[in-house]
Amino acid sequence: MILSGWMLWREDARSRPTWVEGTWEVRDGRIDRLQGRSVPAGTDHTGWMVPGMVDVHCHIGVGAEGPAGTARQVQQARADRDSGVLALRDCGAPVDNSWMKGRRDMPVLIRAGRHVARPGRYIRGMAVELEDPGELPQELVRQAHGSDGWVKIVADWIDRSRGAEADLDPLWPPEVLVDAVAAAHGAGARVAAHCFSHTAVDALLEAGVDDIEHGCGMDEDQVAEAVRRGVHVTPTLLQVELFEGFARQGARRYPRYARTMADMYARRREHAEMLLASEVHLLPGTDAGGYQDHGSLTRELALWHRCGMEPTRVVDLATWQAREAMGLDSLYPGAPADLVVLEGDPREDLCHLDHARAVLLRGEVVAGSARS
Ligand SMILES: [Zn+2]
Repeated sequence: MILSGWMLWREDARSRPTWVEGTWEVRDGRIDRLQGRSVPAGTDHTGWMVPGMVDVHCHIGVGAEGPAGTARQVQQARADRDSGVLALRDCGAPVDNSWMKGRRDMPVLIRAGRHVARPGRYIRGMAVELEDPGELPQELVRQAHGSDGWVKIVADWIDRSRGAEADLDPLWPPEVLVDAVAAAHGAGARVAAHCFSHTAVDALLEAGVDDIEHGCGMDEDQVAEAVRRGVHVTPTLLQVELFEGFARQGARRYPRYARTMADMYARRREHAEMLLASEVHLLPGTDAGGYQDHGSLTRELALWHRCGMEPTRVVDLATWQAREAMGLDSLYPGAPADLVVLEGDPREDLCHLDHARAVLLRGEVVAGSARS
């Protein structure tokens, strides 16, 4: 297969990708650049080409109704793939979705095991719930052994046992977090932490987690500390858009919690502008499964742009930088041909990310207008 046009390309596996014009050949699932700039006869696809995007926060096997079976998992993963998302970090699932790893037509899957929480402190039926918080280190080791180099903790959630005083509160004592993160790292896994609130952030940074999910309660000092420590943040702005509804649902029984959520909703754009303008390494995630649809990453990215980020940076973060953070290859001579051919230049207009001519996974066209 011959591709021509502009590609976000790196000259070798380590160099920084740049946009270059040229012609490429895809053979046996791998890509290489052809010399010379003329478009040979028989070019299959022409356009602007980016490495496959990554959704680092989605849930394969979670539907609006709860845990979902294999048929639904296939639909979810296809929706992601067809939108140009060719790698997924499953950020916690109550089902075994490892079957995907043997399927060439499915995106690359990186599993983070199950959510680890305390009783009553997460969505019912989703998490491994620990009666004794002191068991967190050994549970993370157990999750690490069954996952793909990541584990997931729920760091804060409403504590309904406090009745009208209930608020978003941390689940774990700080000293337990320190031991737990060390144990996970010792078992070869990085740690992603669900965190909406402001109050849970300091202990997570102190404990050395690798990725803060949502992060909508982080203040500027905490963001600066995350930069200093090299902690990633996955903003999930689509999910924060739902906070007004969460606040309304809780308003009668849990007024304090409702106020916390409503405040974050009211400040969400201002907060996103601060976070997105910072130096922190951002990761693209939708939280799909449950509340968000799979295949909605470009909607999340459109919000990043709306909150002030230049399209060029959005494209870099959603493609090669996210891939690098997840330990995946981007496009260089001999690399796997996981890429998206777009009709127009996404640096000019991010909307082009929604118009794939061809989505190539392992060198095969799996979606796009040229296929249908
Ligand atoms: Zn999630």
